[in-house]
Amino acid sequence: MTDPTGASAPGLQIGGWFKEKLYRDVRQTYRVTDVLFHERSEHQDVVIFETPVYGRVLALDDIVQVTEKDEFVYHEMLTHVPILAHGKARDILIIGGGDGGILRECLRHKSVKRVTMVEIDRYVVDMCLKHMPSIPQKAFDDKRTNLVITDGAKFVAETKDRYDVIIVDSTDPVGPGEVLFTEEFYRNCKRSLKPGGILTNQNGVPFMQADEITMTYRRRKKSFKDSGFYVAAIPSYYGGFMALGWASDNTKARAVPLATIKKRFHAAKLKTKYYTPEIHAGCFGLPAFVQQHIR
Ligand code: SAM
Repeated sequence: MTDPTGASAPGLQIGGWFKEKLYRDVRQTYRVTDVLFHERSEHQDVVIFETPVYGRVLALDDIVQVTEKDEFVYHEMLTHVPILAHGKARDILIIGGGDGGILRECLRHKSVKRVTMVEIDRYVVDMCLKHMPSIPQKAFDDKRTNLVITDGAKFVAETKDRYDVIIVDSTDPVGPGEVLFTEEFYRNCKRSLKPGGILTNQNGVPFMQADEITMTYRRRKKSFKDSGFYVAAIPSYYGGFMALGWASDNTKARAVPLATIKKRFHAAKLKTKYYTPEIHAGCFGLPAFVQQHIR
C-alpha cells in the first residue's frame, strides 16, 4: 500500500476543510493546511492531516480519532485512573489504541511489567509512527510492549492470559469497532481479567451519544459487580464531557481515598498535563443528565 506523503488526498484539499461525519445533524470542521496521507486500509479509510489549531489529526472513516494538541487529556485519563485505582497493575491489555498514546501512558508506570496491545489495523500503527511520532514516541520499542495485529474481540475470546487492567481504546461502535461494544466482548474481558481487575473503555460523548451510555452500562452490568462511568473534557470529542466506561468486581476501586491516590501518583513520579489526583477523585461524579441514562 503506497504512502503518498505530502500529496493532497482526493477530496481533502490543502486550504480546504475536513468535515467530520460522526453525527447526522451536527458537524465539526477543521481547516486543512497539509495532507500527509490518505489511503483505505483493509478495514477503514485512514487520513492524517495538518491543522492550525489541533496540529496533526488522525481520522478513520471521517471520524476524528486523535489530535496532537489535545491527545494528552484522553490518554492520561483512560490509563492513570484505572492503573492508580488498581494500585498493583502489572499486566495490561489494550484493545485498539493504534496511535500508541494509551500504550505510551501505560508504560510510564514502572510497576507495569507487560502491555499487550491488540490492534486490528497495522496501517494505523505504521502511519501514526511515521506522521504523528509525538504520540507513540518510543512506546512500540519498549521491551514490555507486545503488539498483536488482530481483531480485539477474537483475541479476548481466545486468550489464556490474564490481565490486571483492560483498556478499550476503540473507534465508535460502527465498522470494525462495533464488536467491542457487545455483551459477549465484555463477558470475555471479564474472563480475561485477574480477580479485582478493571476494565475501562472509550464510551462516547453523552450529550451526543446518550444511547451508548445505557447500552454499554446494561451490557457490562451482566458480567461485572460494578459498572459505571467517569468523565473528562476532550476538546476534539466535542459536545461536552466524554464518558469513559468502568467495570470491575472490585466495588471499592472507584472510591479509592484521595490520600491513597496522591501517594500512588507521587510514587509513580508521573508528570501529567490533565490528570491530577483531585481530578481522579472527582471524575466519577457525573452530571445529572448523564446519571439518568445509567439504568
Ligand atoms: N481515541 C480514539 C477515540 O476515542 O475514538 C480511538 C483511537 S484508536 C486510533 C482506535 C483504534 O481502534 C483504531 O486504530 C482502530 O483500528 C482500532 N480498532 C477498531 N476496531 C477494532 C477491533 N475490532 N479490534 C482491534 N482494534 C480495533
